[in-house]
Amino acid sequence: MTHGPFLLSIGGDGVAAATEFPVIDPATGEPFATAPDASEAQLDLAVAAARVAFLSWRAVDVAARRAAMRAFADAIRAEAEALAALLTREQGKPLTAARREVAVAADRIEGTAALDIGGGYLREGPQGPVRLDYVPMGVVGVIAPWNAPLILAMQMVAQALAAGNAVVVKPSPFTPLTTLRLGEIAARVLPAGLVNTLSGGDALGRWMTAHPGIDKIAFIGSTATGKKVMASAAATLKRVSLELGGNDAAIVLDDVDVAAIAPRLFSSAFVNSGQLCMAVKRVYAQAGIAEALAHALAAEARRMRLGNGFEADVDLGPVQNRPQFDKVLAIIQDARARGGQVLAGGGALDRPGYFIAPTIVTGLSEGARLVDEEQFGPVLPILAVDTEEEAVTRANATRFGLGASVWSGDQTRAEAVARRLEAGTVWINGHGGAVPDLPFGGFKESGIGRGMGVAGLRSYAEIRVIHGAH
Ligand code: NAD
Repeated sequence: MTHGPFLLSIGGDGVAAATEFPVIDPATGEPFATAPDASEAQLDLAVAAARVAFLSWRAVDVAARRAAMRAFADAIRAEAEALAALLTREQGKPLTAARREVAVAADRIEGTAALDIGGGYLREGPQGPVRLDYVPMGVVGVIAPWNAPLILAMQMVAQALAAGNAVVVKPSPFTPLTTLRLGEIAARVLPAGLVNTLSGGDALGRWMTAHPGIDKIAFIGSTATGKKVMASAAATLKRVSLELGGNDAAIVLDDVDVAAIAPRLFSSAFVNSGQLCMAVKRVYAQAGIAEALAHALAAEARRMRLGNGFEADVDLGPVQNRPQFDKVLAIIQDARARGGQVLAGGGALDRPGYFIAPTIVTGLSEGARLVDEEQFGPVLPILAVDTEEEAVTRANATRFGLGASVWSGDQTRAEAVARRLEAGTVWINGHGGAVPDLPFGGFKESGIGRGMGVAGLRSYAEIRVIHGAH
């Protein structure tokens, strides 16, 4: 397999940078390619190219915009196998999951293109008809994380383009390569400069949030960085969409069939090795079933086959990067120090790369890092509660509010609990999943605004009301 060269995409051209940085394969811990480290001057060029492209794209009618975006999605699908292999190499996820990610990224572009942003005639006013239009903002800076690099970057790009904007996209420095490839594809099938892709470190993100030529920042990443993005964007009053971290609770009531739900609950927590914003990160189980559930989840954990994503029949890959690997191990250490009982897993595998055995911990309470923080890795606490009331109170006792779920055999009971949860999405007897036509995002410090759905699309536009628009 060849890797590279990888180029920035600026104004439709592939461009090298003066310096490069290594990209590490998380399954080995070794560098396998390099990515260009974009300079501030290259950001200026990309923003200027995006501005020019925007001036034409905003005038393109919706049907033609949709057709162009469908062509982009199809061009991604045509290269799915190569993209998936590169994604597994840089991100670590099993090849089957990488293939799914490429397919979902393409589907999000197409699904977003199909949304109707709305607007039009409102009512009569003193000057005659009043109409409301959703007007594109200009240049959107897209900043993405490393856990699902293609899906997340492309859902932001798709909303920006569908609303009539041009974009400058910055992938995470841990997973820049597949996004650079998508930049090349975009340069082939979309108007030059509409989608510019720049890889670089965190400094590039800071330059984007401060750049006077960028009108809006669409950011998906951690809550800590999201706060910095918002603070920096304040200087130019850039619009921001922030889709941030979560600490999703799953509340399991005592009327469930434990054996039936355990595999689904397990995969909702450990998919992508737990590195998912909307993964289950805390389980509050009623005392009657808590122990049985913890043991059933531990059995699932022991069944998992870990390995390099290219190996056959691998269920889970490594943690994506060294800092995250160290953080998850420290969180497991803290759990042990606070008296947590480790029912399965409990540490790193004795092999190269960033592999951590899927870990189930009981006997903890609030105050442990594993309960209070977003672990974002393959470790899950099971916490026993007596009543529904206690479960709701503890589930809501967090600064996060992204997702939550209720598991029960009784629909009325489940729904009553669901309606009390402070989270942007609540699932009943399931957990996880996002689609282009439904708004997704968080209460509290899990974000500002919503991505996807018509609400998400509208957040990439200004509202203009015209009085007397005959
Ligand atoms: P991160 O915040 O460390 O980095 C995200 C991006 O921000 C990267 O591209 C990074 O280079 C850039 N960045 C870093 N410092 C910056 C700065 N000061 N200004 C501008 N940009 C800067 O997040 P991560 O570790 O890559 O991703 C994991 C986090 O993302 C988790 O908290 C997860 O829950 C969250 N996430 C949220 C959603 C959602 O939809 N809510 C989806 C996926 C991931």
